[in-house]
Amino acid sequence: MAGLLLVVSGPSGAGKSTVLNAVMAKRKDMFFSVSATTRAPRPGETDGVQYSFVSPDEFHRMLQEGRLLETGSFAGNWYGTPLDPVMERLGSGETVVLDIESAGAAQVKEKYPNAVLIFLTPSTEEEAERRLRNRGTENEEKVLKRMADSRREYMQIDQYRYIVVNDTVEVAVQAMEAIIIAECARTKRNKGLFFKYRETHR
Ligand code: ADP
Ligand code: 5GP
Repeated sequence: MAGLLLVVSGPSGAGKSTVLNAVMAKRKDMFFSVSATTRAPRPGETDGVQYSFVSPDEFHRMLQEGRLLETGSFAGNWYGTPLDPVMERLGSGETVVLDIESAGAAQVKEKYPNAVLIFLTPSTEEEAERRLRNRGTENEEKVLKRMADSRREYMQIDQYRYIVVNDTVEVAVQAMEAIIIAECARTKRNKGLFFKYRETHR
């Protein structure tokens, strides 16, 4: 059976990285898709771990060569999901997680309708802004760009199957795990397992 494709979006500062890292620390069967981006690394980020940091030319080349599943821009930078690793991991039945913005999420949903889209947000927009500022990784100009583009994210909320509120990390992690467990148990994902039984017990 193909693995579960999870797509997580939300405003900048929502806690997407924090919550996903915590979920992945608990569940070892998940593969985090490392995106390519033209944004500069933040202190503490390592090439190939949080992102593959590429030049605009390299990003364009990847796109032209069909190596990206989807792309999107956020606060003046380009981001894209490398296609091959996602398809390989899904093919081997793993749960694959994409942390991507809403335009990219729409492209994934179009190409892969079984993808499960989750919107992660604190209960207020102001809290996301406060966290973004407290994180201290962006100057004022970039904070303002990020807040403007985060509003765009809220506008697309209807395309998501779930909303996970990240007021406390622990509760948000529980909600993510509950979604993963429930989605893995859905009939349409599992009924193939029982065809043989139905054939022999009619
Ligand atoms: P995103 O990936 O969505 O931009 P981050 O995971 O980088 O967000 O989180 C933004 C900031 O908020 C970080 O400094 C992180 O430690 C903090 N944070 C994340 N979740 C919570 C939470 N539930 N309560 C308080 N602070 C949080
Ligand atoms: P950040 O710069 O804070 O790491 O990410 C900014 C935004 O880009 C976030 O909304 C994040 O989800 C999104 N993003 C990260 N990788 C990708 C990607 O591969 N594709 C798209 N469309 N968005 C991405």
